[in-house]
Amino acid sequence: MTPEKIRPRPIDGYPPQYPPMPRRSIEPFEQVRDNYLSMHDGSSPPAASWQRAPLVTRPAELLALLELDPALEALDYERLRGFPLRVPHGFVARMRKGDPQDPLFLQVWPAIAEGVDTPGFASDAVGDLASLKSGGLIHKYQGRALVITTGACAVNCRYCFRRHFPYNDSLASRGNWRETLAQIEADRSIEEVILSGGDPLSLADDKLSSFVSALERIPHVRRLRLHTRTAVVLPERVDEALLGWLGRTRLQKVVVLHVNHANEIDAAVESAIIRLRSAGSTLLNQSVLLRNVNDSSGVLAALSERLFACGVLPYYLHLLDRVQGAGHFEVNENKAVKMMGELAAMLPGYLVPRLARELPGAPAKTLLPW
Ligand code: SF4
Repeated sequence: MTPEKIRPRPIDGYPPQYPPMPRRSIEPFEQVRDNYLSMHDGSSPPAASWQRAPLVTRPAELLALLELDPALEALDYERLRGFPLRVPHGFVARMRKGDPQDPLFLQVWPAIAEGVDTPGFASDAVGDLASLKSGGLIHKYQGRALVITTGACAVNCRYCFRRHFPYNDSLASRGNWRETLAQIEADRSIEEVILSGGDPLSLADDKLSSFVSALERIPHVRRLRLHTRTAVVLPERVDEALLGWLGRTRLQKVVVLHVNHANEIDAAVESAIIRLRSAGSTLLNQSVLLRNVNDSSGVLAALSERLFACGVLPYYLHLLDRVQGAGHFEVNENKAVKMMGELAAMLPGYLVPRLARELPGAPAKTLLPW
């Protein structure tokens, strides 16, 4: 599909009825990495260590590494290849061996429950396609615009709300940012640009720094926000090249990490967070409330404490975006509200994230009272 064929989708009648579990057209992380490596003929700097990081992509390999029952069932091959297993070895090392209920394992394991079509769940859970402009720009909220920079991620999170997103139809995710920048320049209301994806830190630093340099030349853009899970699952991504352009930009920087459980933060992640802060970034975290992963006030309290010990403020706790294939992760809203009350009784207010849901067409995230 060419970008011109992307039409805003009317909100009436939402959620749209898509065929179940279509294949996602993405630029795989391995492909981004391999393309980058193939560009290196010895005349340019060698690939960074994060670009050589080994990934686990076969269910049998993950089970063997974790000493789990090799008979544990995974999604069948045909469905799995639309959104394959992908997890860096370093993240696997933070999982408990021999425990099929490990909260990090459950986030990446392609369970057969993903094959169940859940009523009320859709391919485009948050109405991205209705707000998608050519150039890969998603402009939902006043003053902020989000750029889909890439479809690649270092990890495939099984609850991902963009797991069916047509990344290949987005100009920005194909590396052509001219139209994206022209739209931002033409709209003086845009003061903050959010790089998302996929994960923007899947991109090489020369691409990111040239895009950010171009943003800096637009006077009304004041803030740059990066949404990333790569900095958590692959902390070696926060290297000198990244810190160099991040530290130099005139834009105010906000890095929103995506951590769902305290066990995700080991010493390497803590060090990456410290480096991001030293480059002048404000660090926030958003989590997704996931059944059997973090659906207890004790687990959430431990997460908030761990984040703050690293200098990160818990920002949002999202109710699951109702994307097809992720129904088994959903936590009942009443339970979520009850847990928030418990959490507030355990922690100072600044460590209690806002419980939020993203509703298609709404002018902001919808905060849930508790
Ligand atoms: S890192 Fe983010 S965009 Fe990528 S699969 Fe996970 S949730 Fe989705």
